[in-house]
Amino acid sequence: MLDLKSLVRTIPDYPKKGILFRDITTLIEDPAGFRESVDRLAGLHRDLGITHVAGIEARGFIFGAGVAIALGVGFIPVRKKGKLPGETIGQNYALEYGVDTIEIHADVIGAGDKVLLVDDLIATGGTAVAAVSLLRRTGAEVSHSGFVIDLFDLGGADKLRATGVKVEALIP
Ligand code: IMP
Repeated sequence: MLDLKSLVRTIPDYPKKGILFRDITTLIEDPAGFRESVDRLAGLHRDLGITHVAGIEARGFIFGAGVAIALGVGFIPVRKKGKLPGETIGQNYALEYGVDTIEIHADVIGAGDKVLLVDDLIATGGTAVAAVSLLRRTGAEVSHSGFVIDLFDLGGADKLRATGVKVEALIP
């Protein structure tokens, strides 16, 4: 097994002073690291009856698309407001300063579907919890999630688990 953590670069003071940004571009530039990240996230979620992978814009698309292909299921982009062309449903969530909105196409999933949520990183959990609420409003089941990185001291994974979602992270 590769040391995936060593392939993630940490950039200080991005996007603002005092933040240590985990940069996964170095991980996905490494073919073995990229492949192993996707294979491991997929391997943790085989034989669960997953029907769709939902990835959160934008880095969740990179890993989520790979996991969907590996599991042989479709991919749902969870997008920032105003980017999807069809009829959408949206969910607001709080940012440090202000509010953001994520959207999915209204008709993409429904009761009987079982969605795996994928993103590159979970920090406070605000984005992932909002994505789970949004996906569940369609009637679909969302009980599994996979992240490359969990910044565990920010408590997001626990917050997500409290909504009844199992949380897997390759780099805890
Ligand atoms: P949360 O909502 O606080 O859990 O933040 C998670 C979201 O912000 C995810 O969509 C991540 O892609 C992004 N994010 C937050 N911090 C970082 C970071 O250090 N590196 C990469 N993405 C981050």
